Amino acid sequence: MKYVGAHTSAAGGVENAPLRAMEIGARAFALFTKNQRQWNARPLSAESISAFKTNLNKADIKPEHVLPHDSYLINLGHPEEEPLTKSRHAFLDEMQRCEQLGLPLLNFHPGSHLKKIDEADCLKRVAESINWTLDQTEGVTAVIENTSGQGSNLGFRFEHLAAIIEGVEDKSRVGVCIDTCHTFTAGYDLRTMEDCERTFGAFDALVGFEYLRGMHLNGSKATFASRVDRHHSLTQGELGLDVFRFIMNHDAFNDIPMVLETIDETIWPEEIQLLYSLIEA
Ligand SMILES: [Zn+2]
Ligand SMILES: [Zn+2]
Repeated sequence: MKYVGAHTSAAGGVENAPLRAMEIGARAFALFTKNQRQWNARPLSAESISAFKTNLNKADIKPEHVLPHDSYLINLGHPEEEPLTKSRHAFLDEMQRCEQLGLPLLNFHPGSHLKKIDEADCLKRVAESINWTLDQTEGVTAVIENTSGQGSNLGFRFEHLAAIIEGVEDKSRVGVCIDTCHTFTAGYDLRTMEDCERTFGAFDALVGFEYLRGMHLNGSKATFASRVDRHHSLTQGELGLDVFRFIMNHDAFNDIPMVLETIDETIWPEEIQLLYSLIEA
């Protein structure tokens, strides 16, 4: 089974996200459990947690098909001690929110070296940050997202994801999320079925599909290998539809949340339907 949805708004409270997912015909969704552009947030209230669980049931979506995304401010590979500690504490808070909501996944961008440390050192810090967080939590998997490699962001090579996983002690609680736009702009082609075979074959060889916990399904405004992170709607931009046809017909993508972060949310219901229509009998 394929579980497709979108990154829905949690405005007015996290409990609203499952209802918005239901409205657009989603079988999965992503959300921010706090404001993604601020360091601090009030704890989730007992009422909000309970309403979230009720609404998730109402939407008929399972917790494992929800892919919460952490704050953009967090850098788990920060080269400096104080901001690294701040990031780790914020990440722990994000993971504890997932625990409270009964959600088993937390999606995040690995981190940036800010041109102050080398790649290997930065990736090691990310792994140590994950270890530190997993030690203090239960039942939530850290899901590393691949990136476009914009600026000094790491995670744009499959080798980066593999290196982080290598450094994580509890392999049962680390996974990855692959974003189609990021993959393409990082320099892995996805425009034809053959490109998809090659790119996902490389992913399987270097990381392994057994670590795949989610997908971000996005078109790309930015050109191939541009290292620029600019999403587009599925039927527009540089990517084309073959990659989505490939994903929707490949068993390796079964039973994981696959989430749109495309730019025109008014057409999410159509995009979800389009994806399901690509499944060949
Ligand atoms: Zn993404
Ligand atoms: Zn992106």
